[in-house]
Amino acid sequence: MLVPLLDLQGQYAPLRADLLAAITRVCDSQRFIGGPEVDGLERELADYVGVRHAIGVSSGTDALLVAMMALGIGPGDEVVTSTFSFFATAGCIVRLGATPKLVDIDPVTFNMDPAAAAAAFTPKTRAVIPVHLYGLCADMDPILEDARRAGIAVIEDAAQAIGATYQRRQAGSMGTIGCFSFFPSKNLGAFGDGGFVTTNDDALAHEMRLLRNHGAELPASAPAESGGEGGEAAPKPQSGVGGKYLHKRVGGNFRLDALQAAVLRVKLPHLAEWSAMRRRNAERYQRLFMAAGLTDTVLLPTCPADREHIFNQYAIRVARRDSLRARLGAAGIGTEIYYPVPFHLQECFAPLGHHAGDFPRAEAAAAETLALPIYSELTEEQQRLVVDVIRSAMS
Ligand SMILES: *Cc1c(COP(=O)(O)O)cnc(C)c1O
Repeated sequence: MLVPLLDLQGQYAPLRADLLAAITRVCDSQRFIGGPEVDGLERELADYVGVRHAIGVSSGTDALLVAMMALGIGPGDEVVTSTFSFFATAGCIVRLGATPKLVDIDPVTFNMDPAAAAAAFTPKTRAVIPVHLYGLCADMDPILEDARRAGIAVIEDAAQAIGATYQRRQAGSMGTIGCFSFFPSKNLGAFGDGGFVTTNDDALAHEMRLLRNHGAELPASAPAESGGEGGEAAPKPQSGVGGKYLHKRVGGNFRLDALQAAVLRVKLPHLAEWSAMRRRNAERYQRLFMAAGLTDTVLLPTCPADREHIFNQYAIRVARRDSLRARLGAAGIGTEIYYPVPFHLQECFAPLGHHAGDFPRAEAAAAETLALPIYSELTEEQQRLVVDVIRSAMS
């Protein structure tokens, strides 16, 4: 590959010594579950997002699951979300026995259309899940206002949007709960799976801490046997019985590994710079596509003036997308389609009773979007090659 869709080597190389030292520190401690690395990362993430609580979990998918479990969402409940997102957003709703009420997208931002979302609210609606797709915040003000009036929760799926802002507010700090992913391809990627949830609600935070650990208190920085929960009031364990064996809820094993937390603490201080580099690359594409006279045939991502995009993906829109993708692939340029089939046309959601044509804007996006390489260390020369290949494919 001349230009891979994502190349993590460039990010890893300068941090290699620090990362291996952090991993060694955890190995030497033989403390793999909870502990100071997880606690430290959670404090640093809460600061970064600007919320009272950040709670490490095992993936972005489990972040969504834990958020909905904490809100008590289950059979008979409806949750409104976009039909155009990564599978987990809708999958988690169904896993809890609730019903996803899917809505169409805004054709320019690819994010949930707030008016369509509000129109889908019924007395059974318990929550709305805006997705900050590709790293651009959804239009949150109307969503937050409509949800407040309806008395329902707002769960931000910020899995692709750590550090993105909407009117200077951070993704994951605006709703009732924010859900994030550390999947390696996200702007802040672990060495494996991980995620976290955010909230300003102390009771929900406590609930989510319980749920990620089978409904029991997870021992924090204190010695493993103490049953303490760093800083939060936790009942004393009964003598001879670890607090971890007292189950207040039926949760799951949704914990973030100490090893992943240690890796993420090395990376987090660089995140803002990495996202700025992605924005620089997006501006470079804009200049190159304009210079190539392609901006009529290739629709470039746009960012409303009240938001800061973190460009987890750089998704262009073109007619005859699949043949362009083949040409790019043959030229050694990696691309991907996020996402080729909206939720309402997925086989597993057939019981929802949707048909082709139900959400035409999402269907058009699924047929026309193509994600180009945008990772931080991408060079101008590589971007020129991408645009050159697209120009010759389009002529
Ligand atoms: C990545 C992603 C998730 C799931 O995160 P995982 O860590 O892969 O489980 C959920 N929603 C969106 C929008 C995502 O992009």
